[in-house]
Amino acid sequence: MSTFDCDVIIIGGGHNGLVAATYLAREGKRVRILEANSEIGGASVSVRAFPGFDALISRYSYLVSLLPDSIIADLGLNFECISRTVSSYTPYERDGVSQGLFVSRQWDATTEASFNLIDSTGHEAVAWQSFYGEIAEFAERIAPTLLKPLMTRSELKNLIALPSVWDYLIEKPIGEVITSRFKDDVVRGVVLTDALIGTFSSAYEMQANICFLYHLIGNGTGEWKVPRGGMGALVTELERVARAAGVEIGVNQRVTKVESDADGVTVTTAKNAQIRAPYLLSNAAPQCLAALRGADKPKSLDGSQMKINILLKGLPQLKSGVDPRLAFAGTFHANEAFSQFESAFSGAKSGHIPAILPIEMYCHTLSDPSILSPELAELGYQTLTLFGLHTPATLFDADNDSARQAALQSALASFNQYLAEPIEDFIVGIEVKTPLDIEQEIGLPRGNIFHRDLHFPFREDGTAPSWGVETDDPRIFICGAGAIRGGGVSGVPGHNAAMAVLAKA
Ligand SMILES: Cc1cc2nc3c(=O)[nH]c(=O)nc-3n(C[C@H](O)[C@H](O)[C@H](O)COP(=O)(O)OP(=O)(O)OC[C@H]3O[C@@H](n4cnc5c(N)ncnc54)[C@H](O)[C@@H]3O)c2cc1C
Repeated sequence: MSTFDCDVIIIGGGHNGLVAATYLAREGKRVRILEANSEIGGASVSVRAFPGFDALISRYSYLVSLLPDSIIADLGLNFECISRTVSSYTPYERDGVSQGLFVSRQWDATTEASFNLIDSTGHEAVAWQSFYGEIAEFAERIAPTLLKPLMTRSELKNLIALPSVWDYLIEKPIGEVITSRFKDDVVRGVVLTDALIGTFSSAYEMQANICFLYHLIGNGTGEWKVPRGGMGALVTELERVARAAGVEIGVNQRVTKVESDADGVTVTTAKNAQIRAPYLLSNAAPQCLAALRGADKPKSLDGSQMKINILLKGLPQLKSGVDPRLAFAGTFHANEAFSQFESAFSGAKSGHIPAILPIEMYCHTLSDPSILSPELAELGYQTLTLFGLHTPATLFDADNDSARQAALQSALASFNQYLAEPIEDFIVGIEVKTPLDIEQEIGLPRGNIFHRDLHFPFREDGTAPSWGVETDDPRIFICGAGAIRGGGVSGVPGHNAAMAVLAKA
């Protein structure tokens, strides 16, 4: 006879572990979360990163799209996301003149004029609207399936009204459709960026398609919103509802070993405590779970991004003359033309930090100044979240400190190319996170922001029914980003792992 300490153990107190725990506890399960760090939240935390400045920065993840409104409602979270009126601004230079491609969230006259400036034939404006119109239909149909057992490839395909969209999103490299539908290198790059965030891939590899898909289907619209109060506000609320439901949360409880038998699972912590339960959920990445079980690690791409958090004493002017309050309100792309992505990818693959780093950024405080003290807000301080692409973990292996510094210089140079005054004149605080820093601080294997390679949101025809969270052990499930449909701040794998356990127990 087994003696159990609780009904479900969860390794890790990231946002997904908290979501899973609350769904389970509300169904009467006794749940224990064991978190390795001294704080819960994993990649979804806010911190006062700059001593002397009361500015609460989203240290790792920063925008929300994939978290279904239904999870917020189910769990009763007092958590709000703010829509941005600007979708993106991309500065570029043509014939020695500094200009910019401005895209509003809703197509409008300013957006149309901006497209017509980059392409006076009007082709790109029409291509953009028809392409994203098709994707919107696809997103609306796929999004509701994420909180249900996985559909098969054929079932999901039959849901989509336009077979051509399925074809170009799922069957052919995304680079092919982008280059066939759009002509301008800058416009092509703005489209491609969603396929490369956190994914070290060429435009012509299928991993880019999967990344693209998850960036465009959140809540059926693909809109990326600003978490009011920063990303940590989500975890604060998740902790509140988890504790109210009776979940036990232990910090500084690193799990070092997982053993299972026919009746249950036993975990051992670094402090040598042993805890036993009929079921185990892993919010830690599948590679970490494999190591804890003494099994082979699943293969995955390395993380490939640099995250730079910046506190500024004001916003710099741009060479194009656009109001910086518009340029930085949405996503600001610098050196992310299609051809620049491809050359940065091949350069990084051969071991070089891209000389011209593709970077993108946004200013949280333009949408939500609540993360600043009233004094800093009054003084005009702003935050910038900068995400550098195509900087894979391998570039940092030999000497993380030197490579971090070199990559930072490359990112700032890339940014300065479009500024009328150097960004260095505005910086009062800056922190840089390489893939290796992220692995060391919160355990994301090789800094992969999605824990491991993303997967399309379906199972192959003829395979067994699944929630996308199962492992080879019927008592162990993945409840974190490494599940199928798991990457990003979504709560989806947390919800789905809870449902898989409740279906059994
Ligand atoms: C720099 C960066 C930027 C990102 N930007 C965005 C964004 O803007 N929007 C978005 O949607 N997504 C973004 N992501 C991705 C997103 O943050 C993650 O995919 C998501 O937060 C993963 O959540 P999780 O709960 O599954 O896991 P995690 O947040 O990784 O939490 C896992 C937890 O498990 C703990 N743990 C690990 N091993 C053990 C162990 N052995 N014992 C006990 N505990 C353990 C860890 O300490 C951690 O707290 C970003 C990620 C990064 C790193």
